[in-house]
Amino acid sequence: MIEGDVLRWKTHRAIGVFTYSTVITSLYQAQSKLFGFILLALAVIPFYSSILPDKLDSTFDLEHRGFTHSFLCSLVATAIFFLPVVLLHFYLKSLGIYFPILIPLIGFYCGYLFHLIADSFTDNGIHFLWPINKDQKRQPLYRLWYYSDGYRYEFWITIFTYILTFLIWKKFMF
Ligand SMILES: [Zn+2]
Repeated sequence: MIEGDVLRWKTHRAIGVFTYSTVITSLYQAQSKLFGFILLALAVIPFYSSILPDKLDSTFDLEHRGFTHSFLCSLVATAIFFLPVVLLHFYLKSLGIYFPILIPLIGFYCGYLFHLIADSFTDNGIHFLWPINKDQKRQPLYRLWYYSDGYRYEFWITIFTYILTFLIWKKFMF
């Protein structure tokens, strides 16, 4: 890994959890304390899916930021994740428990997609439209700033993102 070229996992996790929190609290109401806490607990899904693109690269020894860092792979990974979620949904349904299928899916996709978006801000960018133009130089999606001078901003981005996430849940539940 080249310093300054990659985001650290804690930054990806903070961004994934924040995105999930924003989306889910605008889609759902905290009908009860229990439901609110279940939504909060499901933030564990983006906490993991937000580092999955890099995990897949290292586990399967793939080209770093190749296929795993594409829009196509974000859909494939979510589809694979969808299968056990559907099984769980039907299992719980047989026990008479309603399990909203959309919440874990949103969580998973937020984590995965925002890993790609965050990586696209770095110097090397990603092949978002892989396999189209996959042999060309990677292009950042939106290059607003560079990380080339190290992790200077990352610490503050992570802290700030977690503070915002905390405020979102505080407003949602209490
Ligand atoms: Zn990455």
